[in-house]
Amino acid sequence: MVETDSQNPEKQKMVAYCGLYCADCFMHKGTVADLARDLRKELRSVRFEKTAETLGELSFFSFFKNYPQCYEVLGGMVKLRCKNACRDGGGNPNCKIRRCCLKKELEGCWECDEFETCSKLDILKGNHGIAHIKNLKNIRKNGINEFIDGKKHWYVK
Ligand code: SF4
Ligand code: SF4
Repeated sequence: MVETDSQNPEKQKMVAYCGLYCADCFMHKGTVADLARDLRKELRSVRFEKTAETLGELSFFSFFKNYPQCYEVLGGMVKLRCKNACRDGGGNPNCKIRRCCLKKELEGCWECDEFETCSKLDILKGNHGIAHIKNLKNIRKNGINEFIDGKKHWYVK
C-alpha cells in the first residue's frame, strides 16, 4: 500500500500549533538564507561595492548608492534559519501561542473554540495575513490528515 503524506509522522510533526506548516517556511527550508549567503559571496568576489560606487554616480543608476544597505539586508537574511520545526523546539522559544496550547493540553489552536477571535494569534497577521486562520478552520473541519494532503496557506491577504 502506498503511504499518503498524512500518514507520514515527519509531516504530521510539521503542523505547528498556530496552523502554519513548518515545511513550507522559508526559514525552515533555508532557501532565502542560502541564496543570500551565496549572493553575498559572489558580490564580494567581484568587489561589487566598487561597481556600486561607480554606477551610483550616474543619475540613471543612482539607486546603487543604497548598495551598503542592500548588502547589510542580505546579511540579515543569512541569519533567517530555523532548523527545527515548531513541535521540535524550533520557532520563537517564547511563543505565547505554543505556550497556551501546551497549557490547555491542546494539539493546536484548531481544538480551541476561541481561535477566530484570539488576540494571541494577531502576531501572525503581518507575515501571514489570515493564512493561519484559514488553515485552522480547515484542520478543525477536515482533520489534520486532510490538511497535510491538501492546500496549506502561508500568506493570505
Ligand atoms: S513558534 Fe508559535 S508562531 Fe511560530 S510556528 Fe510555532 S506556534 Fe506558530
Ligand atoms: S486561546 Fe486558543 S486560539 Fe488562542 S493561542 Fe490559546 S489555544 Fe490558541
